[in-house]
Amino acid sequence: MKQRPTFPARMETSFVAPKPVPLAQVNQPEGLGMDSSAVRQRMVHKLMGQGVRDTQVLEAMSRVERHRFVDSALVNQAYEDTSLPIGLGQTISKPGVVSRMLELLRNGAPGKLGRVLEIGTGCGYQAAVLSHLATEVYSIERLRGLHEKARDNLRHLRLKGVHLLLGDGMLGYPSGAPYAAIIAAAGGQAIPQAWIDQLAVGGRLVAPVAMGMPPDGRRGAGSGAQALVVMDKTSQGVRQTVLETVHFVPLKSGLA
Ligand code: SAH
Repeated sequence: MKQRPTFPARMETSFVAPKPVPLAQVNQPEGLGMDSSAVRQRMVHKLMGQGVRDTQVLEAMSRVERHRFVDSALVNQAYEDTSLPIGLGQTISKPGVVSRMLELLRNGAPGKLGRVLEIGTGCGYQAAVLSHLATEVYSIERLRGLHEKARDNLRHLRLKGVHLLLGDGMLGYPSGAPYAAIIAAAGGQAIPQAWIDQLAVGGRLVAPVAMGMPPDGRRGAGSGAQALVVMDKTSQGVRQTVLETVHFVPLKSGLA
């Protein structure tokens, strides 16, 4: 008999863990008309296996159809834990990384987050996931081609409270500040001061940041090594935690 997969012992809300579906029974995504929920449930199960516990994040990941955000030639890979090209040299982040970052961003909050700023809209996938976790999502992209692609991708979903902005996210977006949370999908040399300024007291920022050059000089900015950084803003100042190594596209200034 096949062994049943183990479920995490702690399930805080009413989210019911989906049953894994054997691969043979899963309809592989073939086009936009497919019923992809079974494949997505498999993905969610894998995320749980990787240690994602936040039921709100898992539920949001199970709701958003990632295959609608990638090129038709890549639809078959849409639910694998891999980043995929979205044009203009950019990528949609791996589901594992998206869910990990969103879990950190939520930090176990009982309900939805308030206003959230996302830097790097890309194809709009993470903004769609965020829309289920926050009351307002301000997502900013510097590349016009991707900003427009995200707008097309999100139009038919009619998500509430998602604002897509074309601009340089290094400056944040002061009109929506202060933000309960800020998340970046591109990594720079440091966290821009504008983001820290626009974060609410009690808010949290999650971003990839280039690792500094160590004294032996073997690994530095040139290698593209980045670490995931969590910053908490308190009335006493900011507290920064450096977590695991990650690989994101570079944070660049200006519009293109
Ligand atoms: N969250 C996206 C991931 C896109 S990759 C998704 O779900 O698809 C990161 C994106 O950050 C790229 O599209 C890149 O153009 C954008 N980016 C890089 N620097 C930026 C900046 N300063 N302001 C806004 N967007 C930026």
